[in-house]
Amino acid sequence: MTKRNILLTPGPTPVPPEVLKVMAEPIFHHRTPRYRALFQEVSEDLKIVFRTARNVYTFTGSGTVAMEAGVVNFLSPQEKVVVLEVGKFGERWSKLAKAYQLNAIVLKTPYGETVTPEEVEKTLKLHPDAKAVYGTLCETSTGVLLDIEAIAKIVSKTKAIFVVDAISGLAADRLEMDQWGVDVVVSGSQKGLMIPPGLAFLAANGKAIALHQNAKLPRFYVDLAQYEKSLRDWDTPFTPALTLVLALQVALARIKAEGMEKVWSRTAELARKTRKMVHELGLELFAKRPANTLTAVKVPAGVDGEKLVSVMRDEKGVTMAGGQGEMKGKIFRISHMGFISETDVRTGIEALKETLTELQKAQSAKV
Ligand SMILES: *Cc1c(COP(=O)(O)O)cnc(C)c1O
Repeated sequence: MTKRNILLTPGPTPVPPEVLKVMAEPIFHHRTPRYRALFQEVSEDLKIVFRTARNVYTFTGSGTVAMEAGVVNFLSPQEKVVVLEVGKFGERWSKLAKAYQLNAIVLKTPYGETVTPEEVEKTLKLHPDAKAVYGTLCETSTGVLLDIEAIAKIVSKTKAIFVVDAISGLAADRLEMDQWGVDVVVSGSQKGLMIPPGLAFLAANGKAIALHQNAKLPRFYVDLAQYEKSLRDWDTPFTPALTLVLALQVALARIKAEGMEKVWSRTAELARKTRKMVHELGLELFAKRPANTLTAVKVPAGVDGEKLVSVMRDEKGVTMAGGQGEMKGKIFRISHMGFISETDVRTGIEALKETLTELQKAQSAKV
């Protein structure tokens, strides 16, 4: 018997069988009409998911490559940026700003909370020379959803561009790049897009491209100018991760067939059901403003959170994610992205219930 292995982590997420299958196709060369046709199709289809008429650039690398591209392509040394830091992935924007010697004004909240549009507005009034605001659609470390629409409305009235990390969140929680006026959106392949890790994406609008033309930070591999030039021929400047692009074609066809509205409403429904099941177990949600992308749950008092996650994975065949950084052992996280079904979540919650009972029994036996 093969051991059960249900993947409920917020990245990587499960990959549909038809996507796995296409990755067994023989390799072909990428400087060919066949590749150009493939890359044209996926580059056009990505716009449907990003909700933009602008180009979406594809990089080989994990999501962070696109985050780095979202910094070096738009700024010059010492320039001022505002970072919305509500968790571990917001902290990554701050680290990138530091690595590139930018002057970062950090709006930091405790884990589980979020910044308000009013706070962003106040900060931008105090710092009218800020060139960019960096935020996150879904802060995967805490399960918090930021109010990107309201924040975009504020940032769009200033000279700054709004750069949003939608590495998780894309194709899970609603994000309307063009309609909301988000200037740059970055994402990765291993979350809502339902393919393995290894591709990263960036879409930029006219306001962002204008900044790009004067941005002096050093860059080479992720320089948008090269990607833009290649994309005119439906090509990439460097060897693409061909097998993953094939996978992307199949995954995007799946998303297109379902439609973005349905993708969002299905994910919202699964998140709603999960929260209900969590409440029925007497557990508490962690996020003050929960995303539909994933649900973060507080580990109940007296239970070892890290043990809970490892027992579920190794003995019950259900992988949930534990807490990261300062949340280690304090929360666990259940994903609702992409190919995760209600049955997967129900099975996961059953295993959670069993494991909690076992751990609590062992604990009371000790006392
Ligand atoms: C998963 C994730 C990332 C990390 O991307 P890598 O693919 O590990 O480089 C960044 N930001 C958010 C919000 C994420 O969920």
